[in-house]
Amino acid sequence: MPSTSTTSQDKCPGLVVGLTGGIGSGKSTIASHFEALGIDMVDADVLAREVVEPGAPALDAIAQHFGQDFLNPDGSLARQRLREAIFADPAQKDWLEGQLHPLIATLLEERLAACQSPYCLLVSPLLLETSQRQLVQRILVVDVSESTQLERTLRRDQESDPETIRAIMAAQIGRDSRLQQADDILDNEGPEEAIRQRVEALHRDYLKLAEDYEATEAS
Ligand code: ADP
Repeated sequence: MPSTSTTSQDKCPGLVVGLTGGIGSGKSTIASHFEALGIDMVDADVLAREVVEPGAPALDAIAQHFGQDFLNPDGSLARQRLREAIFADPAQKDWLEGQLHPLIATLLEERLAACQSPYCLLVSPLLLETSQRQLVQRILVVDVSESTQLERTLRRDQESDPETIRAIMAAQIGRDSRLQQADDILDNEGPEEAIRQRVEALHRDYLKLAEDYEATEAS
C-alpha cells in the first residue's frame, strides 16, 4: 500500500536535500524546523567532531603529524591550537582536510542510509566546497546578508570576536557563488515565525519531489 505520511518506512536515500549557508546564516535553526516536521537530518559539523574524538583514528594521525602537544591533557584534540596551525599554513590545512573529509564522507553516507523519513537533510557548511554535494539531489541555501551573519554569530558565540568570524566567512564560498548553485533559497532575514511557514512550504514541495524521485529510481 502506498504511504502518504511522513512516517513512511521508505529509506533515504531516497531524496537527500543538502542544507547549506555561511556561518550564522541559520542552518541549525532551520534544520530544527524540518526535524519538527518529522524529517531526519545528518549534521556534517557533528560528524566532523566525531571523527576526532579520543579513540577515533584521525586523532592519532593528527597527533603523529602535528605533535602530542596538539592534544589536551585529557587526550582530546586541542582545537584552538590546530585551528591556528592550519590557518597559518595552507599546506597543513590541505593535509588535515585530506585526512578528515573522506572519514566524514563515509560517516555521512552511513548515517544517510539509516534515515527513515520520506526525504532526509544533509546539513553542512561545506556542502558546496566538498564532495558532499554528490550525496544530495537538491540544494537549499539559507541566505542572510553578511552583516546579519556577523551580528548573529557574535550574539550566539559570546567568546568569539569579529575578526575571527570575518576570517571564517572569508574562507567559505562567497554569497553570490553559493546562491548561484541553489535549487531553493530560504531568505532568513525575517522573524523566525515567517521562516517556519517558508519551511512548511518547502517541506510540502520536498515530499512531492521525494515521491517523484522514488518513482524514477524504481523504474
Ligand atoms: P548556523 O547553523 O548557520 O551557523 P544558527 O542556526 O546557529 O546558524 O543561527 C545563528 C544564530 O542566529 C542563532 O543564535 C539563532 O538562534 C539565530 N537566528 C537564526 N535564525 C534567526 C532569525 N530568523 N531571526 C533571528 N535570529 C535568528
